Amino acid sequence: MASSTASDTLHKEKHITFIIDQESNRSYEYWLSEHLRMNGLYWGVTALITMKSLNDTTLPQEDVIKYVLSCWDDRFGAFGSFPEHDAHILSTLSALQILKIYDSGLSMLTKDQKQQLVKFIKGLQLPNGSFQGDRFGEVDTRFTYTAVSALSLLDELTVDVVDPAVDFIMRCLNFDGGFGLVPGSESHAAQAFVCVGALAIMDRLNVLTHDLPERISSWLSERQVLPSGGFNGRPEKLPDVCYSWWVLSTLSILGRSHWVDLYKLEGFILSCQDPVYGGISDRPDNQTDIYHTCFGITGLSLIDHSKFDLDEIDPVYCMPKSVTKGFRKWKQDE
Ligand SMILES: [Zn+2]
Repeated sequence: MASSTASDTLHKEKHITFIIDQESNRSYEYWLSEHLRMNGLYWGVTALITMKSLNDTTLPQEDVIKYVLSCWDDRFGAFGSFPEHDAHILSTLSALQILKIYDSGLSMLTKDQKQQLVKFIKGLQLPNGSFQGDRFGEVDTRFTYTAVSALSLLDELTVDVVDPAVDFIMRCLNFDGGFGLVPGSESHAAQAFVCVGALAIMDRLNVLTHDLPERISSWLSERQVLPSGGFNGRPEKLPDVCYSWWVLSTLSILGRSHWVDLYKLEGFILSCQDPVYGGISDRPDNQTDIYHTCFGITGLSLIDHSKFDLDEIDPVYCMPKSVTKGFRKWKQDE
């Protein structure tokens, strides 16, 4: 359980142990979470590399890569979350992010696999510019970000995908300055990140004209709940550590992270740590998990990476800048 005791210490060693235990402990919960295994591995790898602790002692590279490649779904030409699972865009992005951390050239994939991946991802885009998560047809701006980011990691982001994707994102922008899952749906902080983040990857932040950057940033700033200092995802909701990432990354992309009280946010994240067994929870005194551990640590990196001796995180890709600095956001003409 996390402790609500005020603290300005990041219990890094405990968190590393917590993450290693998640990966090695084949508990009942582990098998229940098969559909999230690839995402979970990405959260673990990202938390470790941000803490400058991704190495063969914490998480053997060979095992990680072997697991990722074992989730390849040959029928659809992309990655599932678990061996024998159907491919999905979410597990495909997590797989590519993990592989990219180990080798920016993605040499573990064959040329044919890369071509199949591009075909799979582009095949999920609908005529209105939106993306489905898989062939079952659910549409969500989250899948737009995921597809755009994955194509960018493959260096295959092209204008035929970008133009309709930008149109769709802009139709999901609400009058209040928030973004929804689909046009007309309620504003939600995670949707702000996926929409603004996708625009950043596509180098199209310039479509946010007039007062739009301010309006979006105002809505995001209102997510800070006082006196705790944590962020919520929607008005009237409780604060939650994962929104530290969704909200602050978006404000960072828009150059307005100073619009919120970063010191109070930092205090909130640190108060959600379990100082005994490690890990970070959504709120003080709740059960810790790998998802909130990842986004608590990446949130602290956004606030002040040098203070906690963390690697500097890229707010657009949610990977360390040491990894993303060589990324070409657009496919270059050969
Ligand atoms: Zn959460």
